[in-house]
Amino acid sequence: MAETSRQGQNLRVAIIGGGISGLTAAQQLAALGYEDVVIFERDADVGGKIKSFEYEERPYELGALIFNHEFTNVTQMADRYGQQFFAVSKPLVIERDGTVLTYKELIRQRYGYVSFLIAAYRMLYGGTSHPHERDVGFANQDPCLFRPMEEFASVHHIEAATDCINSFLTGCGYGYYEDIPALYLMKLAPVILKELIASGLSLGEHQGWSLFQNGWQEICRQMAGDLVVRLRSPVTQIRRAGANDVEITANGVTERFARVIFAMPLDETLKFLDATPLERDLFQRIRYLRYLVTLVEGEGLFTASFKDHATMDSIGHINFMVQPYTDRPVFQLYQLLGQNMKVADALTLAQQDIAKINGKITKIITQKEWRYFPHVTTQDLSLGYYDFLESLQGKNDTYYMGALLSFETVEQTTAYAKDLIKRNFGRLRLRAGDLAPQRYPGDGKDNQARSEQLRSIERRI
Ligand SMILES: Cc1cc2nc3c(=O)[nH]c(=O)nc-3n(C[C@H](O)[C@H](O)[C@H](O)COP(=O)(O)OP(=O)(O)OC[C@H]3O[C@@H](n4cnc5c(N)ncnc54)[C@H](O)[C@@H]3O)c2cc1C
Repeated sequence: MAETSRQGQNLRVAIIGGGISGLTAAQQLAALGYEDVVIFERDADVGGKIKSFEYEERPYELGALIFNHEFTNVTQMADRYGQQFFAVSKPLVIERDGTVLTYKELIRQRYGYVSFLIAAYRMLYGGTSHPHERDVGFANQDPCLFRPMEEFASVHHIEAATDCINSFLTGCGYGYYEDIPALYLMKLAPVILKELIASGLSLGEHQGWSLFQNGWQEICRQMAGDLVVRLRSPVTQIRRAGANDVEITANGVTERFARVIFAMPLDETLKFLDATPLERDLFQRIRYLRYLVTLVEGEGLFTASFKDHATMDSIGHINFMVQPYTDRPVFQLYQLLGQNMKVADALTLAQQDIAKINGKITKIITQKEWRYFPHVTTQDLSLGYYDFLESLQGKNDTYYMGALLSFETVEQTTAYAKDLIKRNFGRLRLRAGDLAPQRYPGDGKDNQARSEQLRSIERRI
């Protein structure tokens, strides 16, 4: 039976996580008339991976950093809360020997304008199978996208376009083309490419990559102002006792809700959730990257990515550096770290990289390491990972959102949160499991129809 908005008003809904996904979901529920929605947030402030840090009376971003006009959910938020933004200086590219190039120079030297534009056209409009950047989530995508980005680019003859932006994507913390499935990277690559064509080659209109004047976290705080948020409330136990009966414990107090929405890392729920075998299997497969942000004062630095550090053999080196304010010698350094790498060793590598461009770090202001970009392998995608994950939505009165389901940007996580609430809590709610596949291989049971489907996926790959 559809949950009409009138019935919905009586449901108690718990959201676990006060990052942008949880806040957006709560806001959407309020708009639909839900009157009893509680956000549980472990930390002392809202925002999660949105984290602004005040230094000498200016906000610096230790988490989410930039957006552009294609991020319509973000620009709507900015409008709604009257938040001003400004353009970051155009990113440059640093070559192996320390030479600094504009993107225009890089394109001319490495690929030639014609080859680049043909590849870019193919990637953006030429029928290359890719999830349109406005598609929400990862369900029902072409299995060709499950291959690592490097292979995908080669099959579609778009290397000149993808290679040009690899250091930008790696710099944004999304790993390496050799390893990361195109399904993920193709969510953002077209946006970066369009921006590059507009700004780097001065073709078409563009606003450029922007930063918020008062910091991203200010928006989260404004959103939270209209919602019920319990800060310093890590959830430590969840029992799904029966229909419309979810018991949630935080700070030693247990409360009952009709629905629970997870807007936090799903693998971490396994510490306290009465997980089903399928939940356990799917959540254990999630992988993360180690992403280090260091705020420094320095000399001779600027906004740029290191072209040569976009492959796995250079893990630990600086991927990206950003100067948010051109009138201050303060820089953000971004590094992907190896599994066992020490943060102190990463700093040594950073100093070497900076010396190569005749710059130097004069002061370390602060550092933050993140478990970043939840994703799964090509193999798990081929087994239908997202079909199974999406099939869980609504089962046991439970829903899931966040970067694993949508991709690690504010735009994509927000779009997914809005879509999930609309689909499942709005007037025309789909019933849970409507599109459910039969069984996941992790269940240890086979299913003929599923095996046939997998074989057909394998044939296409
Ligand atoms: C360094 C960095 C740079 C980035 N740059 C950009 C960028 O330039 N542009 C962009 O669009 N995006 C960027 N992002 C990505 C963006 O910040 C994230 O995709 C987005 O903020 C994720 O939001 P979320 O709400 O889904 O998850 P999160 O922000 O991770 O929120 C999860 C919340 O759950 C809480 N939680 C966890 N466990 C519990 C528990 N047991 N009980 C209660 N609460 C719990 C956490 O404290 C957290 O607040 C960047 C992120 C980082 C880290």
